[in-house]
Parts: sequence; structure tokens; C-alpha cells
Amino acid sequence: KGAGKSTWRFYSADADMSQHALARLSWKERISQALENDGFELHFQGIYYAQTGELAHLEALLRMHDAERPGEIFMPASFIGHAEKTGKIIDIDRWVIRKAISLLAEKPAAPSIAVNVSGRSFDEPGLPEFIALELRRQGVAPERLLVELTETAAVSDLRDAQRFIDALRATGCKVCLDDFGVGFASFAYLKQLKADVLKIDGMFVRDLPNDRDSQIFVRGMVAMAHDMGKITVAEFVENQQILDMLIEFGIDQVQGYHLDRPQKFHPGLR
Ligand code: C2E
Ligand code: MG
Ligand code: MG
Ligand code: MG
Repeated sequence: KGAGKSTWRFYSADADMSQHALARLSWKERISQALENDGFELHFQGIYYAQTGELAHLEALLRMHDAERPGEIFMPASFIGHAEKTGKIIDIDRWVIRKAISLLAEKPAAPSIAVNVSGRSFDEPGLPEFIALELRRQGVAPERLLVELTETAAVSDLRDAQRFIDALRATGCKVCLDDFGVGFASFAYLKQLKADVLKIDGMFVRDLPNDRDSQIFVRGMVAMAHDMGKITVAEFVENQQILDMLIEFGIDQVQGYHLDRPQKFHPGLR
């Protein structure tokens, strides 16, 4: 279809046919296979203290192997949406949580790990219990696990998000509101969503040097979050100029390509 409406493709014999058949695997099948065949892996990116440059914790970012193109991986942007639509995200989120906790159990001296949880997991009432159980089963202190949920997801489902956050914090996990600032209603809801950490969306951070509105916004966000006793993080810190501005604004922690890239074997986990 991508080649245009009037284009026809003919598939001859074996190799082409099997490729054609594989290409028609649905996302649901692809994701199910990856869950069964160890097709997912976590990469890690550091979150650093802005002042000292010391590693604060790591964020786990999901990658999926492409069974149809060995050696290639899918980024979350290409499969998370399908996983949410098909409901597979519930299994994915659980896999990520269990994996992160097992890493923490394996490496008692490792820094805390943040995992991303989809908004689709809020209306799954068992998730906080699952997390608490895994932590206990694997003997990991709850405060070593951070759970990130996006502001947009939280605001679109405020009641469930609130319940989810409260349950998580009751188990001792830390909660981070991710991609903060894109959901327009931010300010009104911030008080109700009792997150420990507020991560300002990269869109505002990336534009800092050239965009006065972003400067005003980020400065204001940091001040407001601090007044509410929350830790502030900026993502998409791509150069020294951005880092310098953020330090001037009083940001607590930074994440981005200027510091490091997501990687399978992060030095912080050695
Ligand atoms: P996010 O949680 O906001 O993660 C930050 C994304 O920005 C990551 O993309 C990261 O690789 C990228 N990034 C980090 N520093 C920079 C930078 O300096 N510049 C730029 N341009 N990008 C930077 P990634 O890994 O592709 O993940 C995209 C999104 O997919 C994540 O956004 C998160 O919402 C979602 N996601 C990732 N892993 C998981 C997961 O395990 N479960 C769920 N439910 N969602 C996930
Ligand atoms: Mg995140
Ligand atoms: Mg983010
Ligand atoms: Mg983002």
C-alpha cells in the first residue's frame, strides 16, 4: 500500500512468499511472540544530579527485537500504540516491572531504576499489588523502584491515576509524572496527583536556548514543583548550553544525549 494505489506486487515462490506471509503478522502476534520468545530487552539511560553530575538513577527504556529482520529492533514509538490498542501492554508493563526488579535484586549496589507504565495499566486494578508482590518476592526495597506515568495519561483518567499513584506510594515506590507540560491542564491537576518527581517534557527543554516562552515555562515549573516539595527532572538535555540554563533555573536532575544515550550495558549497572 505504501508504494501507491496502482502498484501491484507479485510474489513468486518460497522466499518471497514466506516474507510476504511474515509481513502480515499482526502487531498482536508479533508482540505475543516477543513476550514468549524473550524478544524484549531493556536499555538504560542515566538521570544525573544537575549540580554535581553524579548518577541519580536509571530509566529503563524498552526495545523489541524484530523476528522478521534479525538484528533489527523496534523502538517504543512503533509498537507501544499497538500494544495499547490490543491490550498487550498489560503483559508488557508487567514484563518490564519484573525485569527491572530482578535486576535490582541481582545488583544490590545498583542505583534505583525507573520504569514507564502505560495509562492503560491504571484501570488494571491488580498492578500495584503485582509490584508490591514482586518487590517482596525478590527482596528489593520498594524505594529503589520508580514508576513513571505520563501526565497526559494521568489527566485523561484522573480518578484511576490518583488511585494508582496512591497505591504505589503506599507500597513505598516513588512515582514520577513524565512528559510534564504537554497536557494543558497541568497546573490544576498537579496538586491532586501526589507524585514525588516531575519530569518536564523534552519539547520545552530542547528549545530552551532559542525560545523565551520555554524559558519562562521551565523556570515556572521548577519553582512551582519545588514549592510542592517535588523533585524536578528535565529530559532531552542535548547540550551544555541547555544544561547551564537548567542549573540556573534550579533544576534537580537532568537526562539526555548530552549526558548519555540509552544503552544495553549501562556503566551504572556494572
Ligand atoms: P519517555 O519515557 O519520555 O522516554 C524518553 C525518550 O526520549 C526515550 O525514547 C529516550 O531514548 C529519548 N531521549 C532521551 N534523551 C534524549 C535527548 O537528549 N534527545 C532526544 N531527542 N531524545 C531523547 P524511547 O526509548 O524511544 O521511548 C519513547 C517513549 O516510549 C518513552 O518516552 C515512553 O513513553 C515509552 N516507553 C519506553 N519504554 C517503555 C516501557 O517499558 N513501557 C511503556 N509502557 N512505555 C515505554
Ligand atoms: Mg519516561
Ligand atoms: Mg519523558
Ligand atoms: Mg518525552
